[in-house]
Amino acid sequence: MVYVFRRLAPKRVELAKFEDRSEPIVVYNIVAGRCDCPSRVPCKHPKLLDFWMELGEPIGCAIDEYKNYYPFIDSEFTEMRKILEYVSS
Ligand SMILES: [Zn+2]
Repeated sequence: MVYVFRRLAPKRVELAKFEDRSEPIVVYNIVAGRCDCPSRVPCKHPKLLDFWMELGEPIGCAIDEYKNYYPFIDSEFTEMRKILEYVSS
């Protein structure tokens, strides 16, 4: 499972969660640091967003929950090309 972030507005970032399909299994929004996922306890998503921002907000970069990141080029993750199509649409 990986997450792909897209900045939609200055304080709004979309988080798309991918497993082994070309479409995200779920999409959440983080607005001004608050995530709209259904977790009742503080979720890990804003921390992953911080990590993506520290990387310089690379477009189409997938990040897993352990903060491993997978740029599209040189990645062996088979769905990368499809995710790139998603993030550039
Ligand atoms: Zn969340």
